[in-house]
Amino acid sequence: MNFRPRGSILVIMNNESTVDDLPCHDKLAFDTKKQAETTATVVEYRYGSTVRAYHCRYCHLWHLSSNSV
Ligand SMILES: [Zn+2]
Repeated sequence: MNFRPRGSILVIMNNESTVDDLPCHDKLAFDTKKQAETTATVVEYRYGSTVRAYHCRYCHLWHLSSNSV
C-alpha cells in the first residue's frame, strides 16, 4: 500500500475536544466514504487504533472517529 496521510495523524485521535466554528474544523476531512475508510484501514494497520469513518452533518464530508463504543 502506497499511502501517506497529509498532516499529523494525531488529529484523527483528537475527537470532540474543541468547538470553534464547525465542531469538526480541526479534523481531517475526506470527500468520499471510500477515502475515509481507506485511511481508517491504514491507521488501524500502522497505529493499532480502531477508527471508523462517519459522515459529518456539519460539513457534509467524511471524518474518522477513534471513539470506541
Ligand atoms: Zn465535518
